Amino acid sequence: NGSKKVSLKEVESGGRGLETGALVWVSDASKVWAAGEVTHSESCHVIVKLDSEDPIEDDQHVNVPHTGASVRLLRRDTTILNTAALSYDDLTNVPELHEAALLQAIDDRFQHGRIYTLTGPVLLAVNPFRHMPGLYSPEMLRSFMNAQKLQPHIFSIANRAYQGILDDDESQTVLVSGESGAGKTETTKFVMHFLALTGAEAVVSEGEKPLSRVERQVLRSNPLLEAFGNAQTLRNHNSSRFGKYIELQFGFEDGSHSLKRLVGTRIRTYLLETVRVIDHQQGERSFHIFYQILAGASLPELDGVRKHLDSIEGASTFKNLGNSACSELLDDAEDFQATLAAMQTMGFHMSEITDVIRAVLAVLHVGNICFAVPAKNSEASEVLKSEDAANEPLQLSSELLGLPQAQLAEVLCNRTMQAPGEQVIRMANTLQQAAECRDALARHLYHAVFSHIVEKTNASIGFKSEATFCGVLDIFGFEFFKVNSFEQLCINFTNELLQQYFNGFIFENETALYREEGVPWQNEDFPDNAGIVKLLQSSPSGIFPMLDEECFVIGGTSGSWHRKLIQMHQNHQAFGVVKLQNSTFIVKHFAGPVTYTADGFLEKNRDRLSNDLLRCLASSEWPFLRSCFRDTSGTSADQTPCRSPPPVRASLSGSPKAAKVRAHRSTVSSEFRQQLQDLMAQIRTTTPHFVRCIKPNPENRAFVDAAVPDPRPLFDRKSVAEQLRYQGVLEAIRVARAGYPVRYQHFDFMVEFRCIARKSLQLEMEAAMRKYHEEGLEESCLVTSIRAFLQSEAVLAACGSAEAVAVGR
Ligand code: ATP
Ligand code: MG
Repeated sequence: NGSKKVSLKEVESGGRGLETGALVWVSDASKVWAAGEVTHSESCHVIVKLDSEDPIEDDQHVNVPHTGASVRLLRRDTTILNTAALSYDDLTNVPELHEAALLQAIDDRFQHGRIYTLTGPVLLAVNPFRHMPGLYSPEMLRSFMNAQKLQPHIFSIANRAYQGILDDDESQTVLVSGESGAGKTETTKFVMHFLALTGAEAVVSEGEKPLSRVERQVLRSNPLLEAFGNAQTLRNHNSSRFGKYIELQFGFEDGSHSLKRLVGTRIRTYLLETVRVIDHQQGERSFHIFYQILAGASLPELDGVRKHLDSIEGASTFKNLGNSACSELLDDAEDFQATLAAMQTMGFHMSEITDVIRAVLAVLHVGNICFAVPAKNSEASEVLKSEDAANEPLQLSSELLGLPQAQLAEVLCNRTMQAPGEQVIRMANTLQQAAECRDALARHLYHAVFSHIVEKTNASIGFKSEATFCGVLDIFGFEFFKVNSFEQLCINFTNELLQQYFNGFIFENETALYREEGVPWQNEDFPDNAGIVKLLQSSPSGIFPMLDEECFVIGGTSGSWHRKLIQMHQNHQAFGVVKLQNSTFIVKHFAGPVTYTADGFLEKNRDRLSNDLLRCLASSEWPFLRSCFRDTSGTSADQTPCRSPPPVRASLSGSPKAAKVRAHRSTVSSEFRQQLQDLMAQIRTTTPHFVRCIKPNPENRAFVDAAVPDPRPLFDRKSVAEQLRYQGVLEAIRVARAGYPVRYQHFDFMVEFRCIARKSLQLEMEAAMRKYHEEGLEESCLVTSIRAFLQSEAVLAACGSAEAVAVGR
């Protein structure tokens, strides 16, 4: 009954109003949604016969009561099953689109190797985990250049963005999201590849297509950032352990005023996971660069640190690398060549490459320093002498860092304090404090190296103060683990902001569509996570501002912050507590509730490198180290929030005094929130393009390998449905369809329903359809006859009211 307005509530609550013979989807524990047909319908329940994939198996029946939400029903459109779904490049063309239809369609498309699907302007990309022949070939790339119609391919999205820059001179952003291993970074690289090549191709239309310096550098920036910022994890062998936003600037080449190509770039990075330098899970590794250096130790490029390489006997030499040496999935020696080549492309001189490698080695050797108590029952600590005198970690570290051994030992094992107007007091660090101090040194040093790589890359490629750009955002997706901490809260806060932006975009799109088609619409149903965003960030009582405040309260601890949080927010609808779990709290994110463990939040937010250590590093005889810590070694700066590089922030340059006060009060979360605010402000000035990456199965199994029979589904519907939910895709569809769940293209609608019109109107409709078909007109030419049809007596009699059917798509 295509002309009936089916209330969503009516169908979702359990099938009241579904007649015998109606095709439906039934909620199912393993398939999420299973296809079936209503065989019996009564006022209190319906019976559904499930479609059986195995003809030998007996028919299965499900009894669906109208009350109780354990089983849900959705109307099923015959067009969505199997091969028919393949023709839906854009799922908004599916007449009845909901979770079940969406899932079925991307499942079917994926099984046929179609990894991309559009739902309106949003591109869904299912990771095939293997090379797809021809999918990204030069011919394929060329076929998308200048194409008008949006198609389900990442190059088509990139082309849209490029066209927006050319035609409208408007900046663009491609926002790529998804969980770890879903394919965000690969997607980002395809976008960059398209944008670099399309500009070059546009300028040199025939013959050789030489890339410009900027284009070459932009493409080479990827392996460089990945060497220092990526690591093998249980979920992804090349997992980005930082977020990034790359602005690719376009402009006219000198002398040319017709076409634009890449002329500059700026990379901004977020929340590098420096704790990976200290520790990682079994089966994971630290950052790639450590293993690359070890694998490439014999290369002449490393002669500058030869002395410090020769004593190394593989990764097991280093406490912080443990036994996580080789990876079957990576070729560290070959990748190191690529890293070195990328550094050279980026203009690193030999001495600068040596500096970077020396700093990376220092991070490793510092990690090997151990401590002991000087005497029994002592609360103090001292550096433990190694049995291998030739490989004394303290000595190797201090040589690499350009510091006297005694001075390095002093700042690790002791700290000084000075109250205003009083004398400096020297206090001994406990064993634990000394170890924390050492780990903080390793982490901050590694962070400094990473920031240096990013800065140098930016400086080398160059950035114009004003040019139209295409931003590409590759940032961590929503996370929840068994234990969730500060990092997850920061990541999930980022995702709330991005979701809020996405909701706004979908809302505007829908509003525009309804306006265009003259359809009345009530939009109060629209998803809004503003309440959660406020709970997290609003000053002074949001979760983050309260955390910052507690960092500056004398005697403040994670526990005291947690108590205050509960007192403040226990009645907030997006906040919750778990009984019997003392130090936890729940935030009800748009993607679902997450339980956070408050322990350690304060320390992580402070992320302090002691003043003594800072002063010490800034006094190094090694200029590289001095330059890394010069700006942060101010006389009284207590904090150096160093989880991510200091944001470029013009707004702080106001009064020097104000800037100093702010720097003094700065925390990891306040710096990060400022970075996010800048990022969102930047994105809001651009035209967005959304790509949602999806991991087809949790084990990263590659697209169909028919030779190896495997009972596990390649496309794990449960985990995919979950990802669609986290990424707001389902919510966007549900809400967009809440007003008018069934949407036909004008032409398809006439094909289906003109039979109920009276004869003369039918002829009129057919004439319009022929004209549309033969003359290749816009669909809107059909609107007049559809209006006449909808207001005809036959239709009014069939659906009861004219309001039930609007002239939709
Ligand atoms: P993380 O959040 O951990 O950084 P990610 O979303 O960036 O994850 P990627 O590193 O982009 O994930 O992808 C993981 C792996 O999946 C890649 O190393 C690659 O092997 C494979 N992959 C991703 N996208 C594609 C694709 N379009 N075609 C073929 N393989 C792909
Ligand atoms: Mg990545």
